[in-house]
Amino acid sequence: MDFQVVPIVTAGCNAYLVKGRRVALVDTLVPRAFGRIVKVLNENGLSVGDVEYVLITHGHFDHVGNAARIKELSGAVVVAGAADVPVIEGSEPVPPMSDLSAVGRLLGKLPDSWTRWYQKSDPVPVDRKVRGGDSIDELGLEVVGLPGHTPGGVAFYDREGRRAFIGDLVSCLFGRCGMPTLSASRSLEEIRASQELLAGLGLDTAYPGHGRTIGPDASRVIGEFVRGRKSRA
Ligand SMILES: [Zn+2]
Repeated sequence: MDFQVVPIVTAGCNAYLVKGRRVALVDTLVPRAFGRIVKVLNENGLSVGDVEYVLITHGHFDHVGNAARIKELSGAVVVAGAADVPVIEGSEPVPPMSDLSAVGRLLGKLPDSWTRWYQKSDPVPVDRKVRGGDSIDELGLEVVGLPGHTPGGVAFYDREGRRAFIGDLVSCLFGRCGMPTLSASRSLEEIRASQELLAGLGLDTAYPGHGRTIGPDASRVIGEFVRGRKSRA
């Protein structure tokens, strides 16, 4: 399906405006970046009320941060991976920091209340709980399950356009592919498997949650990163 992708970039994190026959946001940044989303919408002749879909790649606060506010103002349909829904809707607490990295182990020693405070975002009801293999026909996007960083992480994949919104499975800080933040990730094996899946999708362009857009030939670039990691391991 024909649509334009406009990155909404902040120092820490990216969201994306999907502008075609329908208007969607992929991820919503942290709450204090709400003005940035409004600005990009306005620059594209839109307002928050025009947003019809909010697609959440995974249940972290820097991706969910403004979803509740945007849904309240626009009535947008919120879509997220089923396994992340309890955290996004606030029925389950934010998980403790992980022990996959030294930083996570250190932060994990702090009281749970700290993790919850730091990673807090307003809960938002999820209208469509999706899994890998599902599709969002109105937007011409397929759902690819990418567990590992969070259990219910997903990519939103435009097969025809060979492009996908990949959340945090691969970041692109300083122009190089990198791992997701391990202090807030669940499983290294699943991360690797999900990265290999992205490498096999034949993507030309990949839109990450952090850093620059990956492309052209994004799947090849991601594949080289995955193989480089393997050979170092
Ligand atoms: Zn994340």
